[in-house]
Amino acid sequence: MFCIKCGEELKDGYCPKCKEKREMATLIVSRTGNAFGVVVDLNFEIDGVKYNILPGKTLTIPLIPGEHVFSYSIEVIGKREVNIKMADGETYLLKLDFFDLIYSKPKFILQEK
Ligand SMILES: [Zn+2]
Repeated sequence: MFCIKCGEELKDGYCPKCKEKREMATLIVSRTGNAFGVVVDLNFEIDGVKYNILPGKTLTIPLIPGEHVFSYSIEVIGKREVNIKMADGETYLLKLDFFDLIYSKPKFILQEK
């Protein structure tokens, strides 16, 4: 893991150059209700790593601070990509709703510490 500010390699999450501690960022992905009661598989990727989430489930994904590419594909709309920039120690909540994803971009909500 490298420092988000100066690029120096971290030692136990500590940047020797900035003399500051760097923490992992967290993305909480929570999927809301079913699509007409039908369980539709929803796949998404973060930086090319594949995830699958069922309705009502929540995934907590630790990420290295910095910019990440969130992508998902749904048959009727094809593949979409959004970038998310996370600072160290930040936690974002992403609520995934099958129909919201068709009509709007996913929203990443910064959580209070
Ligand atoms: Zn640094």
